[in-house]
Amino acid sequence: MRIAILGATGSIGTQALEVVRELRRRGEDIEVVALAAGRRVERLCRAAREFGVRAVAVLGPEEAREARALLPPSVEVLHGQAGLEELATRPGVEVVLNAVVGAAGLRATLAALSAGKRVALANKESLVIGGHLVMERVRSPDQLIPVDSEHSALWQALRGIPGDEVERLWITASGGAFRDRSPEELERVTPAEALAHPTWSMGPRITVDSATLVNKAFEVIEAHWLFSMPYGKIGVLLHPQSIVHGAVELVDGNWIAVLSTPDMRIPIKYALTCPRHLPPAPRAFSLVGKRLEFGEIPKGKYPAFETVLEAGIAGGTAPAVANAADEELVAAFLAGRIPFTAIAAGLSHVLSRHEPVPSPGLEEIRVADAWARAEAHRWMAQRFGPTIGRERRADGSDDG
Ligand code: NAD
Ligand code: MG
Repeated sequence: MRIAILGATGSIGTQALEVVRELRRRGEDIEVVALAAGRRVERLCRAAREFGVRAVAVLGPEEAREARALLPPSVEVLHGQAGLEELATRPGVEVVLNAVVGAAGLRATLAALSAGKRVALANKESLVIGGHLVMERVRSPDQLIPVDSEHSALWQALRGIPGDEVERLWITASGGAFRDRSPEELERVTPAEALAHPTWSMGPRITVDSATLVNKAFEVIEAHWLFSMPYGKIGVLLHPQSIVHGAVELVDGNWIAVLSTPDMRIPIKYALTCPRHLPPAPRAFSLVGKRLEFGEIPKGKYPAFETVLEAGIAGGTAPAVANAADEELVAAFLAGRIPFTAIAAGLSHVLSRHEPVPSPGLEEIRVADAWARAEAHRWMAQRFGPTIGRERRADGSDDG
């Protein structure tokens, strides 16, 4: 199997390379033929040399120059959105692992699916902002395999189950870094505290999104599209231990849940090798002595979760607006410019000013995305002063 990994220098991308190394050590026929990343060119080129890839793609022309200097002349160096799409559609690539963060991942997902590639999808934003466009390009049920742990769990639990036997899908949420903080404390929490996730180790944006639970609202939207489930039949459970990732409730009262130690290498490997489950487990795990607790998401405690879920249900361009505003607000929070609680307030402001366009095409999504970023910045400047620049955007500059 020949794979291209987009977002190869990030948390998912690096773990995917680890998974590939291990599979190769065990004699599996798997080859990395192309790698893409945003700005961490040196790290990308190191991996490109190790795996002997034929092509890489980076963010822009400057990064491309840097990459050319670090790679043998036989390696093709591409850049920009066109470069990502070129890698995702190259002849010879069979599987595209899309682990880019943010809206920047959508076009590559669409291009890969249209070219008939199998897509292992970590970039949940593809489904959040363009779910209808993604799903209309999927030609067979196993062309699009989720990497997100909750969706990987649902995917496995749903295998062989007819749709009319499913009562409800459940995904779990750890509650993030601040689940035990009071509203007053949340005003003062720092980026470093937000980045200390209690159970998972992930990239910066998704870690902050886990603290606001925006990530969980995205995952409900993701499940809605992936499994063609109405929003009323997707539930979220607070589960601090992150051992049960997802469960399918059947009409006869049976539940099928998927459990594992919280380690993304498990769903990453499954997305690459599915329907096969291949050894090894990344670490020893036992249920002995474990306590598993479940609760409801407390009303009012995670306002951003509620706002983004409403945007998902409203549909059209609303989720693209939620995602773009969130990318900007999270970047501003991580840069120390706005307090944590301003993420939820900013989202609510931007979405309240947006009239969603139904069934948008790519251009309408692009316009809504750009408007939302600008509106988020206008709101931040008005609320927190004009020092908020745009130099730390989420599109590659928060690399690593
Ligand atoms: P990360 O920030 O660690 O890595 C992001 C990667 O995307 C980097 O390689 C970066 O260079 C690349 N990138 C960013 N902008 C780019 C652009 N414009 N062009 C090309 N490459 C670009 O993020 P992550 O935590 O690895 O998450 C990646 C995706 O997987 C996200 O959509 C996230 O929601 C999803 N996801 C992550 C986890 C996790 O455990 N990290 C779990 C589930 C889902
Ligand atoms: Mg997840």
